[in-house]
Amino acid sequence: KNLVVAIDGYSSCGKSTLAKALAKKLGFIYIDSGAMYRAVTLFFIRNRVDMTNQEAINDALHHIELNFHSRDYESHILLNGEEVSEEIRQMPVSENVSEVSANKQVRHDMVKQQQRMGKSKNIVMDGRDIGTAVFEDAQVKFFMTADPKIRAERRHKELVSKGNTVTTLEEVFENLAHRDYADTTRKESPLVRAEDAIILDNTELTQEEQLDFALEKVKP
Ligand code: C5P
Repeated sequence: KNLVVAIDGYSSCGKSTLAKALAKKLGFIYIDSGAMYRAVTLFFIRNRVDMTNQEAINDALHHIELNFHSRDYESHILLNGEEVSEEIRQMPVSENVSEVSANKQVRHDMVKQQQRMGKSKNIVMDGRDIGTAVFEDAQVKFFMTADPKIRAERRHKELVSKGNTVTTLEEVFENLAHRDYADTTRKESPLVRAEDAIILDNTELTQEEQLDFALEKVKP
């Protein structure tokens, strides 16, 4: 049977960094489930989908096709054929993604697609509900956490390195706090640690140390 490694946790905890490194080391496919919610959000923003109108949301979902293509374990997401990997990391999407991802129909569609992707291949998937809803029977589950200040600093640095000079550290901190609150309190599959998930607090760990820790748990 194929293997699934599920990585869940708070926003900007380094889930994708660890997931990519693990996938590379193990020769698994890396799938960034958050990128899917972000791409849907981008489509909703561009098409001014009214989030209070469930019919409009359902209709919009029918017009969205998501695809991944990966190069060097960097995952790239295509929204109706257009590469949007950079745009989905910007603030307009970050500010609206919690509301979009809390929608029942949006989650239903994304989870179905995610389950299909992990059906017959060895994968590492990161997100918020991978170990609790998408792959409840994943062989290995991690739940990542880190000090909120450190997380904001890391994410802010990343934005700056990508040329974003307008978003302040405070704005990033506020956005992370807002998303964590929304993710942990929503009705549909809230962010919660799966009972069998291994906790990984990386506040004081280097990327190498995290990878070593995780590899030890994945390998029999
Ligand atoms: O992982 P990332 O921070 O890019 O995810 C963006 C947002 O998508 C999260 O804040 C969360 O609201 C939502 N998400 C989710 N379930 C997942 C992955 C992401 O609800 N499995």
